[in-house]
Amino acid sequence: MNFYIETYGCQMNVADSELITSILISAGHQLVQNMDQAELILFNTCSVRAHAEERVLGRISNEQHRKKTNPNIKIGLLGCMAQRIGEKLLESNIGIDIVAGVDQYNMLPAMITSDGDFPVLLDFDSKQVYHDLMPVHQSNTCGFVTIMRGCNNFCSYCIVPHVRGRERSRPWKEVYADVKRAGEQGLKDITLLGQNVNSYHDGDIDFPKLLKYLNSIDEISRLRFITSHPKDLSDSLIEVMSSSDKICEHIHLPMQSGNNRILHEMNRNYTIEHYLSRVNKLKHAIPGIAVTTDIIAGFPSETDAEFEDTLSVMQELSFDYAFCFKYSPREGTDAAGMINQVPEEIRLSRLQQMIELQRKITYTKFRSQIGKCVEVYVESFSKKSDSFVSGKTRDYKIAVLSGTESDIGTLKKATVIDATAGTLICE
Ligand code: SF4
Repeated sequence: MNFYIETYGCQMNVADSELITSILISAGHQLVQNMDQAELILFNTCSVRAHAEERVLGRISNEQHRKKTNPNIKIGLLGCMAQRIGEKLLESNIGIDIVAGVDQYNMLPAMITSDGDFPVLLDFDSKQVYHDLMPVHQSNTCGFVTIMRGCNNFCSYCIVPHVRGRERSRPWKEVYADVKRAGEQGLKDITLLGQNVNSYHDGDIDFPKLLKYLNSIDEISRLRFITSHPKDLSDSLIEVMSSSDKICEHIHLPMQSGNNRILHEMNRNYTIEHYLSRVNKLKHAIPGIAVTTDIIAGFPSETDAEFEDTLSVMQELSFDYAFCFKYSPREGTDAAGMINQVPEEIRLSRLQQMIELQRKITYTKFRSQIGKCVEVYVESFSKKSDSFVSGKTRDYKIAVLSGTESDIGTLKKATVIDATAGTLICE
């Protein structure tokens, strides 16, 4: 069958879609880039916020007309939403033919050919790391490599441990082989993925050691990783980051709140003092490191004063970028059952204040780069003009510079001559 995958949510889902593509191609199916050519339409979904789920339900409903013109078309629901409510959705006849949980992608070929009589399998498989699969990378320049699956942390607002199961690490030799193969395919900028990469341990080596090994792979130029958890960010990791030439000067370190009571309620297991000390240590050890973060506005019971604490830490740390969200209750999490939910309009107003503050900080950060020499890994043509190309700096800022197709996939030294709040203009 010709299949098409629409992917929602985080980079883990992008990487999972690459795995699914590999599984289906090995079973004789063909990936198409246009839904009109597909007989099998797969939605790889996200459950982190209610809005993400609503969008997918809307998309499934919108695509039902295709089945009227071609009754052979099948629609499949994969990923976190499938895990969370797939069975219920299948029963409610909204037009889904296949439901596969996050640990059952190997069964997809059998599900596709089973004419709807394949049982829905949503159990977690605590050993499932998809051994020996070669992901079909979507990009020709940058690659995601999953190093672990699941999460043990149970932050009180987060649905992920409920829909992705417990933490398990892939054997380091498989990760090494994947990164090397990606480099051989021309993907020079590799991002390692896991819900909490700092706690990677395959029974043999830990995360700093894994990074050391991967840093020796000649076929790649850059190494990144997401996501880090502040409670597990060790001194030895900072030491490896500062001494390994391929590890980029960027860390994504979710803060979530600047107030200790709220961090405790979130079950984050660190204090804001610990967070500050980690960031300061990183900045000291790796001069110029960019720090990006995630922050939630309006967690249950958050007072105005506690929210002000978050704004003041944002000022103090001057994040290069912050992904700001308003709290979204997720059924089944501890926070959803907490009394004192913050009213929607207050959540929204706090979110807007955070976004506005961060916009100013990011603008200042980007403008402070003017005059500096940066290394740009060129990934594509610029969206606005074919005489410009676009890529990222080592510290994860988007940069544009004049160039041609032959520059794509190469590293360029460039000088920043101008900047907006999201792009460095280089020469
Ligand atoms: S560390 Fe917390 S926020 Fe991140 S995936 Fe695990 S439970 Fe969710």
